[in-house]
Parts: sequence; C-alpha cells; structure tokens
Amino acid sequence: MENKNKPKIAIVSLTSCEGCQFALLDLGERFLQLTEMVEMVDFRLIEDEEDAGVKLDIVFVEGNPMTKANVKTLKEARKRSNLLVALGNCAAMGGIPEIKNYHEKTNTIKHVYKYIQGIQNEEVKEIDNFVKVDFTFPGCPINGEEFLKYLPELIAGHIPIIPDSPVCVECKKAGNRCLLLDKKPCFGPMILGGCNAVCPTSRMVCQGCRGLRPTGNVKAMRATLSQMMSDDEFENTTEIYGLRDDIEESMR
Ligand code: SF4
Ligand code: SF4
Ligand code: SF4
Repeated sequence: MENKNKPKIAIVSLTSCEGCQFALLDLGERFLQLTEMVEMVDFRLIEDEEDAGVKLDIVFVEGNPMTKANVKTLKEARKRSNLLVALGNCAAMGGIPEIKNYHEKTNTIKHVYKYIQGIQNEEVKEIDNFVKVDFTFPGCPINGEEFLKYLPELIAGHIPIIPDSPVCVECKKAGNRCLLLDKKPCFGPMILGGCNAVCPTSRMVCQGCRGLRPTGNVKAMRATLSQMMSDDEFENTTEIYGLRDDIEESMR
C-alpha cells in the first residue's frame, strides 16, 4: 500500500547476475530495517506486490541494457524518478559482459548459443549512454556497507562524493605486503577505494572493479605494470570489469 510520508525507492534489474541485489540482501537485519525507513516500490527479489508505476524518489539500476525491453525499462525508470543511481560495475562500466565488445561479438555468441538466429546480440553499453545517471555505487558486486552509508544522503536529495582515495590506502591499513614489491601486478593505485581492498588482502590482484579514480595517474601506473605483465595480459585484465575503454580514454 502507498505510504505518502516515506521516500519511495525502486531497485530495477536489467540484464545482470543480480549479485548487486544479493549484496543488499546479505546485509540481513540491517537491510530489513532499511526497508522500514523507505517504501520499497519495486525490488524483484523480495517484492510481493505489483509495481503500480508511482513517482519515485530514487531508482537504483543494476545490470546492462541489453534488450529493447531493458532500454524501455531504463528510460521509464528515469522518467518517474527524481534520482537515478547506477548499482554496480555492469550498469556503470559495462562490467564482465562488456568483454564481448572487444572480441568480435558474432564469434563469441557461438560459444553460448548453438543456434544464433533471432538472438539479439547488441554491443554492451553503460546505462549513461541512455539516461542521465546521478550517482554510482561502484564495484562488482557493490559494497553493501557503502550503500547503507550513502543512502541517507541520497534520500535527502544530495549527491554523495566518494573520497578519491586508492585501494592502496585500505590495503596498507589491512597490513598487507604490497604485491608490486614482489613484482606481482596490481591496479590498486589507480582504482577508487571503498572495498576494503578485499582482493589484495586475499593476495589477489586488484583488477579495478570499482573503476578509475578521478585523479589517478593512469600513465604512470601503465608504465609500472609494463614491467610485470605483457601488453596482452594488461589488456585482457582491463577487459574483465569494463575498464579498458576508460583507460584508453585517459591515456589519450
Ligand atoms: S556488477 Fe557484478 S555483481 Fe553486480 S550485476 Fe554486474 S556482474 Fe553481477
Ligand atoms: S597490493 Fe595493490 S592495492 Fe595493495 S598497496 Fe600494493 S598496489 Fe596497492
Ligand atoms: S580490490 Fe579491486 S577488484 Fe577487488 S573489490 Fe576492490 S576494486 Fe574491486
């Protein structure tokens, strides 16, 4: 039932793995408390009522607009909401599906479908190619804690600013030995922090799922990494989270 006093929120999923929505459900009790503060108009994973298409305060969009129906959903979401927020790497940067843009899409689709007739095989495009995006929760998946931290600001109608701090700051706070010291590649210095450096803490390379920092020195980082990985390895790694086009742009 419509509640006139609570902010109205919807979480809309386009073509996606739904991992960002699950990151919210993983908040457990705290997510349930959140749903008491707002009126959740649409959230496919928990809803039991039909979305009646009411005006929204915030719509969160997860995934890629891959089909005509997805594009329609996205544009309608923009029209009916004061704020539109990208939820995660796919929506904001193209994500893992964007890999196909770099690898001749008519060939790659044959690895998935035996018969490709009638299958839509569009280029993967970030949602800001179709609609204005007011804010992005970065990451694959998003960080649920970060969602809780910035949601009150969004509800108040303000656009939060994520500090321009690299993954390295959180990595050092966690007491990790830097992978670069052992000549192992890591993208941390040019990547926006806020994930508690989960990958390097597990001795895995940061592959940049949260995207480039606004003031990161990409050229210097590229030069450092060229001593640790081949051009092909670098390119392949940047394709995993849709980072490649952003890096190419910042190197121009
Ligand atoms: S950003 Fe990652 S977790 Fe979120 S929908 Fe895309 S692939 Fe799934
Ligand atoms: S391991 Fe990666 S994230 Fe951690 S300090 Fe080194 S470069 Fe930065
Ligand atoms: S360490 Fe890098 S790849 Fe891992 S979650 Fe953080 S930003 Fe993403």
